[in-house]
Amino acid sequence: MKPSVVVVGAGIVGCTVAYELAKSGAQVQVLEPRAPGQGATRASAGILAPDIEGHGSMLLRTLGRRSIALYDDFIARLRADSGHDILYQRNGTFDLAFSSGDVDRLQELARALSKDHIAANWIEPRDFDRCEPLASKSARGALFIPSHGFVAVTSLTLAAAAAAEKYGAVFTANTGAIRIFSLPDGRVGVASSNRQWDADRVILAAGSWSSMIIVQDADRIPVKPIRGQLIQLQTTPGAIKRVIWGPDGYLVPWPDGAVLVGSTVEDVGFDESHTDEAVARLKAAAVSLVPGLANAEMTGVRTGLRPKGPDELPILGRSKAVPGLIYSTAHYRNGVMFAPLTVQLVRDLIFDRPADPALSDLDPARAGRL
Ligand SMILES: Cc1cc2nc3c(=O)[nH]c(=O)nc-3n(C[C@H](O)[C@H](O)[C@H](O)COP(=O)(O)OP(=O)(O)OC[C@H]3O[C@@H](n4cnc5c(N)ncnc54)[C@H](O)[C@@H]3O)c2cc1C
Repeated sequence: MKPSVVVVGAGIVGCTVAYELAKSGAQVQVLEPRAPGQGATRASAGILAPDIEGHGSMLLRTLGRRSIALYDDFIARLRADSGHDILYQRNGTFDLAFSSGDVDRLQELARALSKDHIAANWIEPRDFDRCEPLASKSARGALFIPSHGFVAVTSLTLAAAAAAEKYGAVFTANTGAIRIFSLPDGRVGVASSNRQWDADRVILAAGSWSSMIIVQDADRIPVKPIRGQLIQLQTTPGAIKRVIWGPDGYLVPWPDGAVLVGSTVEDVGFDESHTDEAVARLKAAAVSLVPGLANAEMTGVRTGLRPKGPDELPILGRSKAVPGLIYSTAHYRNGVMFAPLTVQLVRDLIFDRPADPALSDLDPARAGRL
């Protein structure tokens, strides 16, 4: 029998899960107060880099490596099923060192990665200059991690929504869930302000807004919004070749000359506006990495609210309070990187396949009585 599933939220998580479940034979209904991809997803830089400096947690890195290993196939299937093109490149990232402390830290990271059999090369300034001739001449070297890359997140998300619809998923826009509750026979109900849906399973994938949805007999899920701002510059196509990280930000160069510059990390509640101060800071960060960007035209500013749980890992698994409810939220800074692993784990839960060991690390129980 085809399980019926309501997916609450149409960000990258909700849309890719809807696609996977519809393709696997579920009857899928997606509820979304705006249009697909308008939450944190629209601001995302789309970097696929589990082994960058900021990711201190070994568990996050291990799960991230597992997820990006699924990416080639994930994109191939989405392209084929949606007919959409999706910009996706796995040509590596550079992490620049500007001080002797940075050099020591990044060389140490390169050694640690090699022990884990992850290719990582330390590039001396002379050689780096040949790789990225426009990058700052103050760089004292760079760590190159070839397995990393990036994806254009809005096109990925819209492709997933289109492919989900092709497999019969129904998207209801302008509709937010208010309450999720148990029904007889293990079914689950979802109420909006003026309608109710009944399903075999419900997936809560409302990102930063997950805490606003009442789940019967459960605590409010402790997911808070962390604002990120990102600007888009325009330069000559091919001027910058790969993702470049530095101490104050990063650049994601698209082949058409667009350069995404990120990002801020701000605890300001549900405020999705951008600020002049952040724009100035991001421009300065871009120029510190590639000085020629001082003259680049700014073509956009985006903000998004990253959904942060008690740690930096997603909250993903079955609810104890409402059997049939599955949480898939709190992807924080890595919802794009974690997308293929997320859809695989959710699909296995929906179709009662053997439990994946990763689920114990992502268990909702660590975030309260859920
Ligand atoms: C500036 C910035 C840069 C980033 N860069 C990266 C990166 O390089 N790599 C990476 O992996 N990640 C990155 N991220 C993080 C990534 O964007 C998020 O982890 C990801 O978008 C979360 O996806 P989501 O679908 O859970 O949430 P969202 O995209 O926020 O989607 C949640 C959806 O739920 C909807 N919703 C709200 N209330 C309700 C309701 N009551 N009922 C139904 N639906 C509801 C919202 O409208 C929204 O569409 C970045 C984020 C930001 C802000």
